Amino acid sequence: MEKGMISVDRWSEQSQAYFLTHLHADHTNGLSSKWSKGPIFCSPVTAKLFPFKFPGFHLSLLTVLEIGISHLISLVSPSTGLETSVHVTAIDAHHCPGAVMLLFRGEFGCILYTGDFRWESTSERANLGKNTLVNALMGDKVDFIHLDNTYCNPLYSFPPREVVAHQVHFHMCFFFFFFG
Ligand SMILES: [Zn+2]
Repeated sequence: MEKGMISVDRWSEQSQAYFLTHLHADHTNGLSSKWSKGPIFCSPVTAKLFPFKFPGFHLSLLTVLEIGISHLISLVSPSTGLETSVHVTAIDAHHCPGAVMLLFRGEFGCILYTGDFRWESTSERANLGKNTLVNALMGDKVDFIHLDNTYCNPLYSFPPREVVAHQVHFHMCFFFFFFG
């Protein structure tokens, strides 16, 4: 994809369309309530949370991407000046509320931008996300993948979600027993 058309979780460069995968601070660095560079596409939940993170933000700049639905966006190729169509589909990333992966399809091929995501082979939600991706590909394959591997570092070893939930529950009970 040509530079200057689409930015994902990057706010410093000039683009025709901006995409936000989720609202964690390391993905919104450079975004502010005074944003005016261009339209921002995000998931329905992220759009709902947006005013809490950026009070006073001009909400008309937000366009909601329903999960699993292909959205057509018309952009202009910076090199040829010709209009080009880009199909984008948001896929549940199983990360924080509203977090999505983004699949872009166009003359450039298929690009999957993962953002932060969680994958557990036994998770029904992750499998739903996989099905959404397969459906959005419509028989094509992913040509390029922007993989966010921040948490692949062995420093970060997360236990399965159920274990964490159990531990949190235990600590909460402990807290209320002694301090409640
Ligand atoms: Zn995150």
